[in-house]
Amino acid sequence: MKKIITIDGPAGAGKSTVSKALAGKLGYIYLDTGALYRALAYKVLKDKISVDDQSALANMCLRTTVTLKNINGLMKVYLDGEDVGEKIRTEEVGLAASQISTYAAVRECLLQLQREAGARGGLVAEGRDMGSVVFPQADYKFYLDARMEERIKRRHTELLEKGNPAEYQSIQKDMLTRDEQDKQRQLSPLKVSADAIVIDSTNLSVPEVVGKILDYVLTK
Ligand code: C5P
Repeated sequence: MKKIITIDGPAGAGKSTVSKALAGKLGYIYLDTGALYRALAYKVLKDKISVDDQSALANMCLRTTVTLKNINGLMKVYLDGEDVGEKIRTEEVGLAASQISTYAAVRECLLQLQREAGARGGLVAEGRDMGSVVFPQADYKFYLDARMEERIKRRHTELLEKGNPAEYQSIQKDMLTRDEQDKQRQLSPLKVSADAIVIDSTNLSVPEVVGKILDYVLTK
């Protein structure tokens, strides 16, 4: 039986790159759940809905269709039928995603979709609450972390590569706000599950982190 592997952790810890590489090595599907929250946040910003207006957000969720399509093992996100691709990869969208994801209506409207993606196993799912809430029965749970300066540096490079450059200071400010919001919220806060293996990637390359996870998954 193919397994479910969850990778949680803060922004910029390397979850996406590691999860994608890991899924590729195992022939598993890769699910980036942050992209789902980002897709909704993109619509919130586009439609000028206030990120604090709970009932408008709940309403927006009811009128929105978020779907996933497996493209060569990567789950691509579609918002009302549109491939939102790189448009959701800005710091502005990330921050709005962190704000709207504090609300139950927003989290609930994405829960089923995430669970369906793992219904047949063979999934590497990354996010904030993969091991704690969405897949509590996951076979392997990892928590990927890194020192703040390293996370900012990585995000800076990533945004540059994606054509959305941002100042180091503003990334730092957004990341601190997002960390705080994601850890302090009442619903599905970012935390280390008791049964998760913690990996600090500050001084590790992507292949080294993937190697550590694979060692664990293939031997235990
Ligand atoms: O992973 P990424 O940085 O793209 O996620 C954007 C935001 O979406 C996070 O800061 C977090 O607030 C929210 N999120 C969440 N639960 C997840 C994945 C992301 O609340 N499983």
